[in-house]
Amino acid sequence: MQTTRQQIRELLSQSECTARDISQTLRISEKEVYQHLAHIARSVASRKKRLIVTPARCTDCGYLFADRRRFTKPSRCPRCKCEHIVEPKYRID
Ligand SMILES: [Zn+2]
Repeated sequence: MQTTRQQIRELLSQSECTARDISQTLRISEKEVYQHLAHIARSVASRKKRLIVTPARCTDCGYLFADRRRFTKPSRCPRCKCEHIVEPKYRID
């Protein structure tokens, strides 16, 4: 029986996922997914792997949340103030 964190690691090694994808696949809350991601980001480093984040993006002006440190989805765009944000995606490589 794998732990949730192992399952997330395996999912992200196979394909790029959003937090919502992970929460639906493993039936846990998105909040839990973000907590696991924070741990995974640190633990994969010791295996010479990286958690790669495709940053969230504003669909109206194209603003990229490239410097964002937190894993959660931003709620609005700092440039045009709209709330149409594409979720960030995660994978392990
Ligand atoms: Zn924008």
